[in-house]
Amino acid sequence: MFIPIVFQHFSFSCISIPTFIPLCIAPISWIGACFERVKSRALTLAKFKILKHNRYKFLFLCIPIAASCSHSTQVDQEMYAAASTSKQSQGKQLIVIDAGHGGDDIGAQVKNIKEKTLALQTATLVKRYLHEKGYRVILTRSRDVFLPLKKRTAIANDTKSKLFVSIHFNAYKSTQPHGIEIYYYNRGSKWRQVASKKLADTILHGMIEATGAKNRGVKYGNFHVIRETYMPAILIEGGFITNPKEHSNLSDKGYVEKMAKSIAVGIEQYLKKA
Ligand SMILES: [Zn+2]
Repeated sequence: MFIPIVFQHFSFSCISIPTFIPLCIAPISWIGACFERVKSRALTLAKFKILKHNRYKFLFLCIPIAASCSHSTQVDQEMYAAASTSKQSQGKQLIVIDAGHGGDDIGAQVKNIKEKTLALQTATLVKRYLHEKGYRVILTRSRDVFLPLKKRTAIANDTKSKLFVSIHFNAYKSTQPHGIEIYYYNRGSKWRQVASKKLADTILHGMIEATGAKNRGVKYGNFHVIRETYMPAILIEGGFITNPKEHSNLSDKGYVEKMAKSIAVGIEQYLKKA
């Protein structure tokens, strides 16, 4: 552990106050980062009702995650660099695309599909299509890395991005549910509620037309990433990987490309109307 090692080598009397304060802050931020990882994993487990039936299994799964925290949470430095330089280019609107989960937080998983990987593939394609249309895009993560929810919203807020679009995929205990749904947060600023709903409606309409998937509608969701962002924000659930037909569609590169393209087209349509 960090604290005993510190006290093993230094006595209180030989640590000056300016040295002691950072020594205190470091373990606190380390614990905070660990808590975020464990909480995120726990939410995934809860989604699949694992926690409800087996608390010991939960602890067993959390311990290795906590142990891996010794490799401090990787903050995507390239992303922040891109954000600061992007402020300098005028005229092009900035969009933040968030690939859900990452690193230890796999999200849902069925056979060959991991939610974290599919979300990143889709987000990367959306970025490419938006670039082709002349928009500036920041991905909250551009590789398989764990990123706390607070960091994701901070990227969008700090860069004053025009829109925030988070990409996820659904899973359920039964294999029957299928289709695409989009969430927005319907509290707080009225302007943001209306704009987020309009963005969700526009994108969902295009996604359904492009993929032929079932329309599960635009819904209210109280999720951190769409609640704590300042700009219009939505969370897309791009299909159920637990449904065999949708699993097969989402394994197909062409289908994922069509879906990503329709998200980019929806963003453009919304911005042209806004
Ligand atoms: Zn997810």
